[in-house]
Amino acid sequence: MRQLLDVKLKSKVVKEITNGYPLLSKEAIEISGVSMKEGSILRLIDSNGRYIATAYYGLQNKGIGWVLTLKEQEKIDKKFFGKKISEAVAKRASFYETEDTTAFRVFNGEGDGIGGLIIDFFNGFYMVSWYSEGIYSFRDDIYQVLSEVIDARGLYEKLRFNHNGQYLEQDDYVLGEKGEFPLIVSENGMKYAVDLNDGAMTGIFLDQRKVRKALRDHYSEGKTVLNTFSYTGAFSVAAVLGGAKGTTSVDLAKRSLPKTIEQFAVNGIDYEAQDIKVMNVFDYFRYAARHGLKFDVVVLDPPSFARTKKMTFSTAKDYPKLLKDTLKITNDGGIIIASTNNASFNMKKFKIFIDKAFSDANIRYKILEEYQLPEDFTVPHNYPEFNYLKVVFIKVMN
Ligand code: SAH
Repeated sequence: MRQLLDVKLKSKVVKEITNGYPLLSKEAIEISGVSMKEGSILRLIDSNGRYIATAYYGLQNKGIGWVLTLKEQEKIDKKFFGKKISEAVAKRASFYETEDTTAFRVFNGEGDGIGGLIIDFFNGFYMVSWYSEGIYSFRDDIYQVLSEVIDARGLYEKLRFNHNGQYLEQDDYVLGEKGEFPLIVSENGMKYAVDLNDGAMTGIFLDQRKVRKALRDHYSEGKTVLNTFSYTGAFSVAAVLGGAKGTTSVDLAKRSLPKTIEQFAVNGIDYEAQDIKVMNVFDYFRYAARHGLKFDVVVLDPPSFARTKKMTFSTAKDYPKLLKDTLKITNDGGIIIASTNNASFNMKKFKIFIDKAFSDANIRYKILEEYQLPEDFTVPHNYPEFNYLKVVFIKVMN
């Protein structure tokens, strides 16, 4: 058993934490002589020494740790982890039963009661992502209870806690079957190729599941679709399967070309009939304008921050500009699917960005649909700020 360290909370955060706010920030605690180490269990107390919550210490870009329980008697041990993981698995019962979707999130960190721990399911295989050394120090206990709760063909893991919060390059295999990659998963009947042992990313962002379905089912038939920041072209696949007249996928990363070809191929799509450009999106905007290219549907899903030799882009600052560039190559009556996973602003602010872009361009618009995280990406009650995904389907009015 780890020793408990008493840590005093600043009075202004006591109410929030009692109310279920899970993140422990550096500013939330009084400076003290206690030396907290990665994986230390903290007994959070108020200024009178009264118990408030139990947390663990683990440095992440977001904060210094996560609250685990508000019950003083509850011990942070195998039983605790087992309970949280079985509750999370039980919540996803309907996902396990759905045959045409075989990839989903099983455990969503703070939303399922353990910040810093993510578990995803990919057609029989599991992938565990560890976001701090602190949570990783519980690895043996967590893997032991995990194997009691689920039946994995094979287990892979991602370590996301080197000095800059980046992925730690390693062999991600942990146990069970090694699996052959690409592994093919289904999502609402679409196929996606994933690789659980190829760097930080797997080939698909599971949180966009509903957006891909909406694009396929309601916005693609007979349309020209431009997919910017396309990564492995997951949105382009959805568009083609929805009957798009043509797709153009644009991403700066060289590996996006073979990866996008692969996604098309596993769906029986002739990739040569689709356009795939390895290019900076901002250069592509100029290229398209010069060639008079316009699209019926444009997907915008940039990373929160991007840096190239020539420029830096941040969604929190530059989204209106990105939308204005997009408007120049979108047909009248067309659709812009504007997406961001930047947690530093909420849906309300995102809509202000959208409104600013359209009013600057003097173009009317109508919001048709909005999406945030799907049900398997559980977020803490009362704290919608952990629901980082924001997707708005905008109709450009003429
Ligand atoms: N929309 C994708 C995920 C995008 S991830 C999906 O749903 O699967 C962000 C992608 O943006 C990465 O693949 C990265 O290579 C790309 N990227 C970053 N900056 C870029 C730029 N300036 N131009 C084009 N692509 C860029």
